[in-house]
Amino acid sequence: MPGPGRAGRRGGGARRPKWFARGGRGATRTQVGIIGAGPAGLTLALLLQRHGIDAVVLESRSRQEIETTLRAGVLEQATVDLMGELGVAERMMRQAQFHGGIEIRFGGRGHRIDFVRLTGGRRIALYAQHEVIKDFVAALLERGGRIEFSVSGVALRDLDGAHPRLSYRAEGGAREIDCDFIAGCDGFHGPSRAAIPEPARTEHGQVLPFSWLGILAQAPLSSPELCYTHSDRGFALLSTRSPEIQRMYIQVDPDDDVAAWPDARIWEELRARTAVGDGGWRLIEGPVVQKGIVDMRAFVCDPMRYGPLFLLGDAAHIVPPTGAKGLNLAVADAQTLAAGLAAHYGSGGDGLLGRYSEICLRRAWRAVRFSMFMTRLLHRDPAHGPMERRVQLAELDYLTSSEAAMASLAENYVGLPLQW
Ligand SMILES: Cc1cc2nc3c(=O)[nH]c(=O)nc-3n(C[C@H](O)[C@H](O)[C@H](O)COP(=O)(O)OP(=O)(O)OC[C@H]3O[C@@H](n4cnc5c(N)ncnc54)[C@H](O)[C@@H]3O)c2cc1C
Repeated sequence: MPGPGRAGRRGGGARRPKWFARGGRGATRTQVGIIGAGPAGLTLALLLQRHGIDAVVLESRSRQEIETTLRAGVLEQATVDLMGELGVAERMMRQAQFHGGIEIRFGGRGHRIDFVRLTGGRRIALYAQHEVIKDFVAALLERGGRIEFSVSGVALRDLDGAHPRLSYRAEGGAREIDCDFIAGCDGFHGPSRAAIPEPARTEHGQVLPFSWLGILAQAPLSSPELCYTHSDRGFALLSTRSPEIQRMYIQVDPDDDVAAWPDARIWEELRARTAVGDGGWRLIEGPVVQKGIVDMRAFVCDPMRYGPLFLLGDAAHIVPPTGAKGLNLAVADAQTLAAGLAAHYGSGGDGLLGRYSEICLRRAWRAVRFSMFMTRLLHRDPAHGPMERRVQLAELDYLTSSEAAMASLAENYVGLPLQW
């Protein structure tokens, strides 16, 4: 990876005061305008700050909202390492649970995939996304970074012209920021991707024929590691938030309603799907404190760059959560863009920035492949007949008995190396 960039070529780089009025239209300016304070936007902001590159983050929700929204929970080793490099890992290292493997359960038997042995010592960390957000926001603000919360009407202007800028409304009225570059980190529904003219982008997408009903339960751990279960009744996942709070999912129909799933029905289904043949294991139950249903989809926008605009994270790609890749992909995009911008403002040239889309798409498609593989392997597809069912069971049998197949799953799950 290139090191921190020197004070910049285009527009004065890090020597420029952080914020200054530009006169004329009265707009402020920054080097990189970031839309969205999710994992992608905050990682990028922290990395740019380290490189001495000016950035401002515009977020439509309040700080309290982004710090309490439940989402992902699995951090790849590389994400953990990056948090350490950025000096934002202190709380995570104390509170996360580190797992050296996962269990794949089917036919009433569990099979451990030993990540540490199969990947030369790599592990995953279980640490909730909103805790990552809390750590990133606190560090960024403490170090003088700028986030504007609760803004509305963010619009990307003049992407084809000489003065790309962001307009928005905040307390006190309408505002504009002139930017050298714009980072679209605003998730699947944000305005960034739509700002790329339709003829200039191709969108690949597939909605899968099942959803996940997820619960948070106040209960001790039932399983020491994540347990991915395939059964005739459908998929189930036992994950964790802390020793006291467990995250569990069951496959449901896409048109299912949470109201049709009282707690007793969820526990009955979880018990049935995760049961083991010898009866030597028991699911530990407890009060359900939160539940909701999420769609399963795969989506990729190609390219991930349009002139001064770069798309990152869910704004560019969505992967089914079975592979636990969404947050980690967002972080990898931010690392790639930060390195490209550091080279641009330093002495490294524009080669890396020019290849941003190609580099990130390669990683995204590999994550889509792995997440679709895990999804097809473990879910009960309503369109499958007896032939496909037997092939699925043979796939599970092969996966859990072949060293090569287990190693392939392990290296993808802990995260492929960042390459550019
Ligand atoms: C319900 C749910 C459950 C998930 N569970 C998992 C999981 O278990 N494992 C996993 O790996 N992944 C999971 N994911 C995916 C993972 O959470 C995402 O991949 C990750 O959040 C992507 O980060 P991001 O920064 O790209 O986008 P986001 O986290 O979506 O952040 C985008 C930010 O942009 C802001 N924004 C949007 N529009 C605007 C606007 N107009 N102006 C300003 N700001 C705007 C949003 O408020 C948000 O804060 C889940 C996603 C969802 C929705």
